[in-house]
Amino acid sequence: MARQQPKRALDEYEAKRDFTTTPEPAGAESSTGDGESRFVVQEHHARSLHWDLRLEHDGVLASWAVPKGIPPDPGENHLAVHTEDHPLEYLDFHGEIPDGEYGAGTMTIWDHGTYDLHEWSDKKVTVTLHGERVRGRHALFRTRGKNWMIHRMDPPDDPDRVAPPRDVKPMFATLTDRVPEGDDWSLEMKWDGVRALVLVQGGRAQATSRNGKDITAGYPELRVLGEALGATEVLLDGELVAIDDAGHPSFQRLQRRMHVRDEAAVRRLARQVPVVYMVFDLLWLDGRTVTELTYDDRRRLLERLELAGRSWQTPAVSVGGGGAALATSEELGFEGVVAKRRSSRYEPGRRSPAWRKIKHHLRQELVVGGWLPGKGGREGRLGALLIGYYDGDELRYAGKVGTGFTADELDRLGRLLAPLARDRSPFTGTGVPRDARFVEPELVADVRFTGWTDGGRVRAPAYLGLRDDKEPREVEREG
Ligand code: MN
Repeated sequence: MARQQPKRALDEYEAKRDFTTTPEPAGAESSTGDGESRFVVQEHHARSLHWDLRLEHDGVLASWAVPKGIPPDPGENHLAVHTEDHPLEYLDFHGEIPDGEYGAGTMTIWDHGTYDLHEWSDKKVTVTLHGERVRGRHALFRTRGKNWMIHRMDPPDDPDRVAPPRDVKPMFATLTDRVPEGDDWSLEMKWDGVRALVLVQGGRAQATSRNGKDITAGYPELRVLGEALGATEVLLDGELVAIDDAGHPSFQRLQRRMHVRDEAAVRRLARQVPVVYMVFDLLWLDGRTVTELTYDDRRRLLERLELAGRSWQTPAVSVGGGGAALATSEELGFEGVVAKRRSSRYEPGRRSPAWRKIKHHLRQELVVGGWLPGKGGREGRLGALLIGYYDGDELRYAGKVGTGFTADELDRLGRLLAPLARDRSPFTGTGVPRDARFVEPELVADVRFTGWTDGGRVRAPAYLGLRDDKEPREVEREG
């Protein structure tokens, strides 16, 4: 009668690897532990970033893959997927696992140390870790199959740690027509794109628009940013920008990305119209809120993160020389400059005089309250949009925009406006054309123009695109 070979703890580990190719240790089970229990946490940039927690136990390393890392806070449990036992030699392993091998990618040692064992069963493991980065009592408990959770039982190791701010809005700049001079001001180019706050925790990036919508799915480029930041936790402020063939930021180009969320379509578009996240500030870093720090101090922290990748950058700034910066921005085809007072704190959700934007052309969002039918070549289609801005509860009529549309955009606008039709004008003020068709004031258009008339109309306006990151009620006259 054939006797079955007893299953060795490292069978699965060995079966998954080709030791002529991978630099990982072949290892051997050691039944003679020296009494000291060691652990390691490896940061593993494999197909998907995760952290591997390994605990020395019974002559091998019991292992879990933790996609979001060891939770720093008892308020948040993280998934920990149980994986095969590893040999003790793996405690020191770091390096490149070659393509084609199991777990291909880069592995670094994120933390290591010893631990005290309190409880060990098939369902629950409780330990106190003594590492350099992770200290304190943790419980691993099995939920289903290979899925476990890891829970921090002690209070956060850092008693001052605070969670990242929730539902926070970015700080906004005030429009002015003179660029401030002097060394109190930091100058940067004005990026023409979509504002986004990006929270990175456990190597995962989550993007929120300025009106609080989760726009992560629309910008897969940010996934790589999250992975590059690894265990660094940060809430970033910046602008998602599409760059045109001449190297200028192009809001028109970005329009093709702004309204798409379907995963396959986004993936295809991301190749055709790549987006770069231009990071210019941070609100929270590794458990500390930094909004009370000065702009200069925040900028130093931001630069220390060395954010420079294919799809993300920290653009340069200059101190003083406002006039020169404005001239440069025009030469390079930017919309204008933003001047930030170096001693100012970050004021979430506020349009602050400490940040000032200076534009070469007037431009702002305006609310669509109606439209005019087309004539001549545009017969049967949209001819112009009727636009306005809020002054208190009143939507003031600000004129009509009849240029700047592509044929596709006219069709799209036609489809969007049809279900919004209403009989009564939403506007106050005079001059609304007699043949106007009115709509519920729900769409926000980005409009460029040369100035305001005394009657409160935009002069020579051109349509740039629709925005879905601003509520109509927030649209006020800026200049
Ligand atoms: Mn791994």
